[in-house]
Amino acid sequence: MLLDIGANLTHESFAPDLDAVLARAQAHGVALMVVTGASGDGSRAAMALARAHPGRLYATAGVHPHHAVDYDDATDALLRELAAQPEVRAVGETGLDYHRNYSPREVQLAVFERQLQVAADLGMPLFLHQRDAHADFVALLRRYRDRVPAAVVHCFTDTREALRDYLALDCHIGITGWICDERRGTHLRELVQDIPANRLMIETDAPYLLPRTVRPLPAHRRNEPMFLRHIAEEIARDRSEPFEALAAHTTATAEAFFGLPSAE
Ligand SMILES: [Zn+2]
Repeated sequence: MLLDIGANLTHESFAPDLDAVLARAQAHGVALMVVTGASGDGSRAAMALARAHPGRLYATAGVHPHHAVDYDDATDALLRELAAQPEVRAVGETGLDYHRNYSPREVQLAVFERQLQVAADLGMPLFLHQRDAHADFVALLRRYRDRVPAAVVHCFTDTREALRDYLALDCHIGITGWICDERRGTHLRELVQDIPANRLMIETDAPYLLPRTVRPLPAHRRNEPMFLRHIAEEIARDRSEPFEALAAHTTATAEAFFGLPSAE
């Protein structure tokens, strides 16, 4: 059985057929999913979705750096309220994204720090996003790292040096279908060999990042949790591990990270 640590199941593309998406995930061995909260409203919706599917879905509560400009005191209070609910297992998605800079960098930095403080105050793990911002990101994270129990750098796509920095901070690493991309993901096939089994987790980031190894490619190009198997197969190959072993340790690592009861 597999555990998808990052699925954006509140995305509008899932509204018409979410029950079928969850049934297909189950049929493909994806027994548990953590629904990413990436905005105030999105986090509220992620918590509600998890509450409606007890034992199958959990949630995070946070504001993505793209939406940092929307973060105000009410958002901060909302995240704290949501994070206290049993369905919510991490603070995030939060971090820095200088690739698109949808929010100004100063705002991203301030809002990232506010969410680091939320996680520190509540003693919760962090679900982190970093793109083209490693130096600022790791500097800020380093200041808070010993005040939070755990932190995962989700959708890791960066360099060997960045990976080394995160592992030195005892972070977990989330790997998506980026690794299945023969145009831009091949460096990850080497780097995943350096991630200790008890720090490695897997995720689809659905509906984004459809693995390019899915055949036939669905016409709509929407990714969904059932495709997590393609990511797990690629990583198992890269690490020269049996698929079952990779499935077992990534699931156990994620259950420990999010404090989840084991699924059957
Ligand atoms: Zn992200």
